[in-house]
Amino acid sequence: MSDSRERELGMHRKITRRDFINGVAVTAGAAMMPWHLIADERANPEKSLNYYPPALTGMRGSHPGSFDAAHALRDGTFWDTAGHPVDTRETYDLIVVGGGISGLAAAHFYRKVAGENVRILILDNHDDFGGHAKRNEFQINSAFRLGFGGTFSIESPAPYSAVAKGVIEELGIDVPSYSKYFQKNLYRSLGLHPKIFFDKESFGADKLVINPNPRGGDDSEDAGLLSAELLKQFLADAPIAGLAKRDLQRLYQEAKDYFPGLTSDEKKAKLARISYASYLKDVAGVHEDIVKMHQAMPHGLFGVGIDAVSAQDAWGLGYPGFDGLKLDPAPGKGMNRDAIPNEEAEEYFFHFPDGNATIARLLVRKLIPDAVPGSSPSDVALTRANYAKLDEPDSPVRIRLNSTAVRVRHLGDAASAKAVEVAYARGGKVYTAKANHSILACWHVVIPYICEELPGKQKSALATAQKVPLLYTNVALRNWTSFHKLGANSVYAPGMYHTSLNLDLPVSIGGYECARKPEEPILVHMMKAACYPGRPAREQHTLGRLELYDTTFESMERKIRDQLARTLAPGGFDPARDIAAITVNRWPHGYAYEYNSLFDSFWLEGGETPCEVARKPYGRIAIANADAGAYAYTDEAINQAYRAVEEITKS
Ligand SMILES: Cc1cc2nc3c(=O)[nH]c(=O)nc-3n(C[C@H](O)[C@H](O)[C@H](O)COP(=O)(O)OP(=O)(O)OC[C@H]3O[C@@H](n4cnc5c(N)ncnc54)[C@H](O)[C@@H]3O)c2cc1C
Repeated sequence: MSDSRERELGMHRKITRRDFINGVAVTAGAAMMPWHLIADERANPEKSLNYYPPALTGMRGSHPGSFDAAHALRDGTFWDTAGHPVDTRETYDLIVVGGGISGLAAAHFYRKVAGENVRILILDNHDDFGGHAKRNEFQINSAFRLGFGGTFSIESPAPYSAVAKGVIEELGIDVPSYSKYFQKNLYRSLGLHPKIFFDKESFGADKLVINPNPRGGDDSEDAGLLSAELLKQFLADAPIAGLAKRDLQRLYQEAKDYFPGLTSDEKKAKLARISYASYLKDVAGVHEDIVKMHQAMPHGLFGVGIDAVSAQDAWGLGYPGFDGLKLDPAPGKGMNRDAIPNEEAEEYFFHFPDGNATIARLLVRKLIPDAVPGSSPSDVALTRANYAKLDEPDSPVRIRLNSTAVRVRHLGDAASAKAVEVAYARGGKVYTAKANHSILACWHVVIPYICEELPGKQKSALATAQKVPLLYTNVALRNWTSFHKLGANSVYAPGMYHTSLNLDLPVSIGGYECARKPEEPILVHMMKAACYPGRPAREQHTLGRLELYDTTFESMERKIRDQLARTLAPGGFDPARDIAAITVNRWPHGYAYEYNSLFDSFWLEGGETPCEVARKPYGRIAIANADAGAYAYTDEAINQAYRAVEEITKS
C-alpha cells in the first residue's frame, strides 16, 4: 500500500496498539517467544492497581501470551524447558480448568451441592475471566462506551433448560424486562436501514445498497423482513448482472418446486446432503453473482459460508428459494439445531452492552463478592471489577488468571486415587496444586494434551471438537454521522475481510447510556469468519485458525480502516479522523463445533455422537464446556457444567 494511502487510512494515528501480556505491554515480536520467557516480569500482575484488562485495546480475545504454553504442549516442546514444577502445597476440593461461563457455573453448582465453604481454584490462561464472554471498554473523550468482545447475548435456538434459566434467574437477570433497556426504534427513527456493500474485487464496483432481506448477523429490528419495495430499490441499485437480477427476483418471488414427485421427507433428505451454494447453483440454477451475494450469510451463525451449510439448514433459517417445495415445517433429520425455528426460544433474548460478560461478572460476584462489588444485575454495567481480589488466600473460591493448565492427573490409579494434581504454567514457571476433583471446562481440543491418561477413544473424540475461528472487532468512532448520511445501521459485506458491521445495539442500563445522536461517539462491531470455501468445515476451521494466529494486529487494522473507508467515505467518513480506538477480539478457538449433515454422517444416520464420548467422566475428573454438547451457546455451557458437577458429586 502506498504511503499516501497509509496516511489517508490513518495508520500513522496514535490509537492504542499495544499488546499486553499479563498486564505488561510488549512489542509485537513477543508473540513468537518461547512460553517460559514470556511474562516473567511480574509474579502477580493482577495485584497491580493498573491491571484492568477490559480497558485494553489492540489484539484481545486470545491475546499474545495466552496460548504459548498450550501450543508448546501441543508441539511436544513444553516439558523440554519447563523445569521441575513448584509445589504450591495448596489443596482444594475442586480445581476447575477454564474460567469461562462453564467453569464459573461449575464452581457455582458445586458450592450449591457441597456448601459455601468448599475450596475451589479456577485456572484460566487469559488475562481476564469469562472465556468468550469478554468485556471491552472504551473512553472516547468524555464518553464511556461498552462493547462485547465475544458472547453477544442471552439467546439460543432452543429454549433454555430449567437449569440454565435457573442460573439466569439466580443472578437476578429478568429476561422479559429487556424491552425497558433497548431503544428498539432508535435507528429506524433516524431513517437507518440494513445495507449490503458490494466490493469491486467481487462485483466490479464498490457500492452500498439497501439489503432486501437482512438476516444472519444483522441484529436490527427489521432483520428478516423482505418487502417488495426494498427489493425494487435493491434491483435498481445493485452492481450485479442483469441475469442475476432476474434470477434474484425469481428466487424471492416465484414458488417453484425443484423436486416434483418427491415427498417432503424425501426432499429434506436430499437437501441435507447438498450445500445451499450447490442448491442455488445446480438446483435453482441462479447466476453466479447471486451465489456470491449469499456466500457469507451464515458466517455469524456457523463461521462458514453457504458452501458448507446444508440446503436443509438454509431452508430452516428462512433463506430464499424453498417456498415451492412445500416442505413440512417440522424439522428434518440432520438439521442443525440453529436452523430449527422455535418461538419460545426467540423471545428469550437479552443483550447487555458488554454481552454475556455481564453473566460472567455476576457469576464472579456470587463466587467472590469483593471482586465485583455491587448488588443488582444492572449496577454491574458500570462496576469496575477488582482483579486484585480474584485470588486471595483466605477466600474459599480463587480465580487464577494467566495460568494455563498443562497436566491434570490422578495421584495413583484413576479408579482408586483419592486426589488429582493439576500443574499449570504461570509467569514462566510451572506450579502444582491438588484437589479432590477436577472439572475440565476448557476447550476440548486441549484436553488430550493436558490429560494424557484418558482412554484413546475419548481423546480422539475430544480432538474432533474443532472450534470455529472468528474475529469480533470493536471500532470506537468519534461520531456516526456518516452512517446517518448513508441511511445505514448495519452492513453485510460478502466480499470483504469482515463480512458484517453493525452500529452498537442501543441499550442503556444501570446508569450506562448508549449513543443516541449521530454526533456522539459509538462502537461499531465487525465480524469476520476465517473460512476457506469449498473445503470440509473442520478443514476450513483449521486453516482459519492458523490464519488468525499468523495475522498481525497492524495488518488487521489496515484492513479495518480500508473497509470502513470504502464503505462509509461517501457519507463523509475519514478513517484518520474518525477512528478513536480498535479492539480486535481474536478467537482462533471460537464457537463450539456444531454437527453438520454435509460432513458428519452420524448426524444423519444416528448413533453416539463424538461429544457424548468426549465428555465421559474419568475417575475424579469430569468434563464440561459448550464443546461437551457440541452447541455454541451460553445455556449449553451452563448445562454441561451442571452435568459435570453431578458426575463428581454423585460418584
Ligand atoms: C465470538 C463469539 C460469540 C459468541 N456469541 C454467543 C452469543 O451471543 N450467545 C451465546 O449463547 N453464545 C455465544 N457464543 C458461544 C460461547 O462460546 C458460549 O456462550 C459460552 O460462553 C462458552 O463458555 P465455555 O465456558 O464453555 O467456553 P469458553 O468461554 O471458551 O471458556 C473456556 C475457557 O477455558 C480456557 N482454557 C482453555 N484451555 C485452558 C488450559 N489448558 N488452562 C486454563 N484455561 C484454559 C479458555 O481460554 C477459555 O477462557 C459465542 C462464542 C464466540 C467465540
